[in-house]
Amino acid sequence: MSNPTAAPSHHKVIILGSGPAGLTAAIYTARASLNPVLIHGPLAGGQLTTTTDVENFPGFPEGVMGPDLMQLMEKQAARFGTDVKVDTIVQADLSKRPFTLKGQSRSYTCDALIIATGAAPKYIGAKNERELLGYGVSTCATCDGAFFRNKVIAVVGGGDSACEEASFLTRFASKLYLIHRRDSLRASKIMQQRVLSNPKIEMVWNKTVLEVQGDKQIGVTGLLLQDTADGSTSLLPCDALFVAIGHTPNSQLFTEQLKMDENGYLLHSADSAQTDVPGVFVCGDVQDHVFRQAITAAGSGCMAAIGAERWLESQHMG
Ligand code: NAP
Repeated sequence: MSNPTAAPSHHKVIILGSGPAGLTAAIYTARASLNPVLIHGPLAGGQLTTTTDVENFPGFPEGVMGPDLMQLMEKQAARFGTDVKVDTIVQADLSKRPFTLKGQSRSYTCDALIIATGAAPKYIGAKNERELLGYGVSTCATCDGAFFRNKVIAVVGGGDSACEEASFLTRFASKLYLIHRRDSLRASKIMQQRVLSNPKIEMVWNKTVLEVQGDKQIGVTGLLLQDTADGSTSLLPCDALFVAIGHTPNSQLFTEQLKMDENGYLLHSADSAQTDVPGVFVCGDVQDHVFRQAITAAGSGCMAAIGAERWLESQHMG
């Protein structure tokens, strides 16, 4: 039963987040006999649970479904004794040790904290966008581009992410439309030039996407667009939509407690996962706006775990 006022339960290591970063950190800290507690909100598994096939995670030559991969990782973490709790942390106090986390169910304290809270892709809010996620709608070109070889692909956005994704996707696409809501790109000059000089890319200026057409059986068939100048609508036939309007790191809990960049990504020292608060480590997409891959998240989870283990040992708490 939940009881937010009960005395906090104390743990050597708490890991926040159950994506590849958090679960890898759990596997490593559990095998190091640190009895980690991993806390995640109502939706376990992070962003991979919103994808279908994952073909680029080593060890799965035939590919693996995103949710299945996350279940396997959770099973592996549980096998070594990770205690997985479902709770939403609403407040964190990192100003003194042990660190305190206040959840909706109860409070927790810990000697070392590993933050793996991830990032959330931003969505445009078009009709059917969320329903067709993993069925022709994607937020990750590296993950899903190869499924659309010789297909017509649309990308929405006007920043560096959109230009990068669009350029990358021309490896697969027979034709690529880059849809932007204004008449000029926000992206850096070099990225703009790359996009504007690519013969496979056609710019679709001054348009927003109202609706993604298709269904889960046939995938995406087209987009209903609206002109931002005159409000007229038109149909753009295509086989996939990549939404590339940015991500929001899930770091709000730590505002004014940990150093972050201007976009909210948590900062850590150059060659480790250590934040500016000793004993607090960070891994996965909440600290990475560059790679954002399951494998890089898992790698950084391993770094955070080893960092936490060594730090606890140095404090004679390991
Ligand atoms: P961003 O720079 O914030 O650009 C977001 C783009 O999406 C903007 O063009 C924006 O339109 C558009 N947009 C936002 N909401 C929209 C909506 N609801 N409907 C339609 N369009 C919408 O984000 P980003 O491209 O992800 O870049 C984030 C940061 O990472 C930047 O500092 C960027 O330089 C950096 N980054 C760098 C690289 C690289 O150097 N290789 C790659 C990726 C990202 P408006 O222009 O009209 O606002």
